[in-house]
Amino acid sequence: MAANHAPAPFNPSTRVLLGPGPSEVPPRVLAAMGYPLLGHLDPEFVAMMDETQGFLRQVFKTENRLTMAVSGTGSAGMEAVVVNLIEPGDKMLVCVNGVFGARMVDVAQRAGADVHEINRPYGEVFDPEEVRRALAAIQPKLIGIIHAETSTGAWQPIEEIAKIAHEHGAMIAIDTVTSLAGVPVEIDAWGIDAAYSGTQKCLSCPPGLAPVTFSPRAAEVISTRKTKVQSWYLDMQMIQRYWGSDRVYHHTAPISMNYALREALALVIEEGLEARQARHMLNHKALKAGLAAMGLGYATAEGHQLPQLNCVLIPDGIDDMVVRKRLLAEWGIEIGGGLGAFKGKAWRIGLMGYGSRPQNVTLVLAALETCLRDLGAKVEPGAALAVASAAYSQAK
Ligand SMILES: *Cc1c(COP(=O)(O)O)cnc(C)c1O
Repeated sequence: MAANHAPAPFNPSTRVLLGPGPSEVPPRVLAAMGYPLLGHLDPEFVAMMDETQGFLRQVFKTENRLTMAVSGTGSAGMEAVVVNLIEPGDKMLVCVNGVFGARMVDVAQRAGADVHEINRPYGEVFDPEEVRRALAAIQPKLIGIIHAETSTGAWQPIEEIAKIAHEHGAMIAIDTVTSLAGVPVEIDAWGIDAAYSGTQKCLSCPPGLAPVTFSPRAAEVISTRKTKVQSWYLDMQMIQRYWGSDRVYHHTAPISMNYALREALALVIEEGLEARQARHMLNHKALKAGLAAMGLGYATAEGHQLPQLNCVLIPDGIDDMVVRKRLLAEWGIEIGGGLGAFKGKAWRIGLMGYGSRPQNVTLVLAALETCLRDLGAKVEPGAALAVASAAYSQAK
């Protein structure tokens, strides 16, 4: 065989990404990834890092000095928070009501924590009183909770729980991977000790970085550890010497990903956090009205449904995979299937960041209507689009 057959070019299709992430990325962010590479200690690059830290503080609503982007996806952010705050044998309480709470338990166990969990069924949220009882009984160093549980669409109120954690002497760490830039996140006003996020949900940036922030108290806990952080790569004491004025080499920053994050954050700030949250809410209301007109109900408790992650029950007699395969093949639409207890039972429709747009709501409703009707569901033609468009007109 000839040795020099060129591989075929890779030409990915343009998809409508309406799943649990990655979300659609605006052209300006994709273009930023094509900027010329700078060295990771180039003055232009380090100035951009400083700017990014400022943007992150604005989006997290915090003054925390220890605020930066860890290299890796959202799970690296989870791991960075846990391994830096936990030393072997420390007690940690984790609130588990879905896949990501369960992941935090696993991460904490691997870090050597004495892990205690409280549980809620999928689709529900925790009540501050049950958290108070657990904190009183366990007296943990740290409590971890998921603000936006992407596996169930549950939107967990945080403020009261943070207060209770501090009354019991515990620090609180929250997962804002899906919440940040989609619904309000108030790190300082709520008194959060540590939070992490990811780039590919409501920030609408490709996956690859994990914004993190630590309160002064958490930073103090990190700087007075008795043992080394279990992970070399995620050791914040070393990472902050690169992000801080020392600029000590730790690992090579993913340059192009940092360009993308800077651009994505600039877009969030341009739009304004409140306007962005209102946009997520309006598109959610239109989608929800349209789904209801087709008889589709939410798997998440009423009053706790995330606007950016709509977890809906698959009607009886409708096959999950038949619908999702057709959405992808015919309209290029990706929605998510159920995870864990919701596997095969629920769809997860993400309206995150740039993806939260009326044209996407209209498209997914029209496509779902076609699929459901073809599978014999009793759905009135056009009803979903009529109520969705009424929701938009009402808002005007
Ligand atoms: C997506 C997600 C994660 C994990 O992020 P990856 O980027 O997939 O590593 C963690 N927590 C929540 C709530 C998420 O939605």
